[in-house]
Amino acid sequence: MKPADDQNSKLVLVIEDNPLNMKLVRQLLLIGKYRILESTCSEDGLEIARRHHPDLILMDIQLPGMDGLAATRCLKEDPQLRCIPVVALTSFAMADDELKAREAGCDGVITKPINTRTFLQTISEYMVRSV
Ligand code: MN
Repeated sequence: MKPADDQNSKLVLVIEDNPLNMKLVRQLLLIGKYRILESTCSEDGLEIARRHHPDLILMDIQLPGMDGLAATRCLKEDPQLRCIPVVALTSFAMADDELKAREAGCDGVITKPINTRTFLQTISEYMVRSV
């Protein structure tokens, strides 16, 4: 598929179980003209990542079942998937989440509540770094 000039063809997978956070992230990514894949749990998210090989993964840390840290470790242990940048979505209240996310292999961290003014810029920086 050849993207139009005014479109950003990059594909972002969002793994987030909170509907309100998902809605906000979706709206911001659409403004940035990203294509979006969504999952509300790690298990499905990993399957989607294997099938579609997104350009970036936004990973909630607190998820039902396998948490975002374990899911990130799975991604980073997979030779086919480890090059995909993973940006953790961590809760501001959980002070040590950022450190845990980095240790699990996350390439970056975005703290919730999400700053809507800087979100797209932050995402694009991780995209560029991954190339
Ligand atoms: Mn969550």
